[in-house]
Amino acid sequence: MTVNPLRAVSRSPDRRHILDRRRFLAGGLALATAPLAGAAALGQSSQPDVIIIGAGAAGIAAARKLAAAGITYALIEAGRRVGGRAFTDNAIFGLPFDLGANRIHFPAATEISTLGRVAGFDVARAPEAGRLYLGGKEATDSEYEGFVGAVRRAERAIVAAGDAGRDLPAARVLPDLGPWSASADFVTGPYLRGRDLADVSTVDVSHAEERELADVCRQGLGALIASLATPLTVQLDTAARSVDLNARRGVSVQTNRGTLQARMVIVAVPPTLLANGRLRILPNLPARYRTAVERIPLGAYDHIGFEWPGNPGGLRPDELVYFRTEAGRGYMLQARLAGTRLHSLDVGGDLAATLADATPGGVRAFLEEAITREFGAEAAKRIGRVHHTRWTKEPLALGAMSCAMPGAGNLRRVFLDVVASRLLFAGEHAHERLWGTVAGAWQSGERAAGQAITLLTGGKAG
Ligand SMILES: Cc1cc2nc3c(=O)[nH]c(=O)nc-3n(C[C@H](O)[C@H](O)[C@H](O)COP(=O)(O)OP(=O)(O)OC[C@H]3O[C@@H](n4cnc5c(N)ncnc54)[C@H](O)[C@@H]3O)c2cc1C
Repeated sequence: MTVNPLRAVSRSPDRRHILDRRRFLAGGLALATAPLAGAAALGQSSQPDVIIIGAGAAGIAAARKLAAAGITYALIEAGRRVGGRAFTDNAIFGLPFDLGANRIHFPAATEISTLGRVAGFDVARAPEAGRLYLGGKEATDSEYEGFVGAVRRAERAIVAAGDAGRDLPAARVLPDLGPWSASADFVTGPYLRGRDLADVSTVDVSHAEERELADVCRQGLGALIASLATPLTVQLDTAARSVDLNARRGVSVQTNRGTLQARMVIVAVPPTLLANGRLRILPNLPARYRTAVERIPLGAYDHIGFEWPGNPGGLRPDELVYFRTEAGRGYMLQARLAGTRLHSLDVGGDLAATLADATPGGVRAFLEEAITREFGAEAAKRIGRVHHTRWTKEPLALGAMSCAMPGAGNLRRVFLDVVASRLLFAGEHAHERLWGTVAGAWQSGERAAGQAITLLTGGKAG
């Protein structure tokens, strides 16, 4: 998922500010960079103050904040690596390839970019403007206007309904968008939210901040996020099975490696895993929590990464390329990742969910058909190795990013409350405005850690 084309698709500066939405006050949200003093020495204690379940961006941010405040923690992770849905692979193509998140949206909202630079990563601003291609060449002015206008009208209608408190399927509030209607559906649904518009809550969209700028990291965003966990002690291969809030003093967390006790717990795993019982919370939480985890599931979004040497598309590094969409067949291209021969054709929503069941040969055929359609048969012949992510099949995520179902647009806020004075939620789903992003996950982890620190110290620290 990438920068919002509602603003970004433009060839000329006058087309840039095309969406009349609330502006993101990046500066106001900037967080002070907390020094991680002594963190290397702060590992897991035998009975820590806080257990953090899940070492994705949210869990890492929470642990860093607790460590900086001198609070002991145990950060447990079911997988063999940290980072969760932010993970850079170097083996598949012999180049950094982010299997999950690859753009730092809202770069001023967290210290992720700054910390990455300090750690030696090359973090740069991604090109702001995407381009629209039709029939192998850049669109004409009137085609740009048709595309951008349709996307803008679709997004405005969705936000207006949400702002008015009409929590409806986003598909139901769209005006007639003419020949660009399928393209607008793709951008406002599968592309930005990992879900077809029939399953998107207008209210959830209206709460979300508009994505404008993004940073990219040459070595991979997953690598950067993982590096932010290096000062921490993480227990890998440790899957929480249940959280018991009735423990005599605080909480007890049952894992595949035994039981951990602490005063508080931060649950930083995707809501899908709570909904399907892979992680249980005892005693059962009030009904609104069950409704929230069931009605804010992760949607589908995948990269079809591929080698395309020699730049047959004539594209610029890290630019986003949009096309005219056929109903239900939407995709966009992230070109020349970090200036390399790697590209990613991105799919979302129902199409991504269907492709997740396809064979590698079927996915390659889909990719070749798309590249032939957009750039011609000769260009498609230059495709080299292909790798398709399948996030809906990843057992520790079961999807890509959260988006509330119609009617559930106000439910995220249940994840912001402290439960029984000892349970907190973190994760991108636990952020009302930046949901679906690494920045949202990071801020939610810091928020949960801040709440824990206040409770543990009576407000004297943090
Ligand atoms: C293909 C794709 C592209 C994306 N593109 C972008 C992008 O460009 N920019 C952006 O900002 N966002 C993007 N996102 C979304 C972004 O990846 C997520 O919002 C973010 O990484 C979520 O972080 P998290 O900490 O909330 O959850 P996760 O990263 O899912 O972390 C949860 C962790 O919990 C662990 N876990 C699960 N169950 C247990 C258990 N029982 N016990 C212990 N540990 C457990 C998991 O293994 C995982 O490590 C993309 C996502 C996908 C899939």
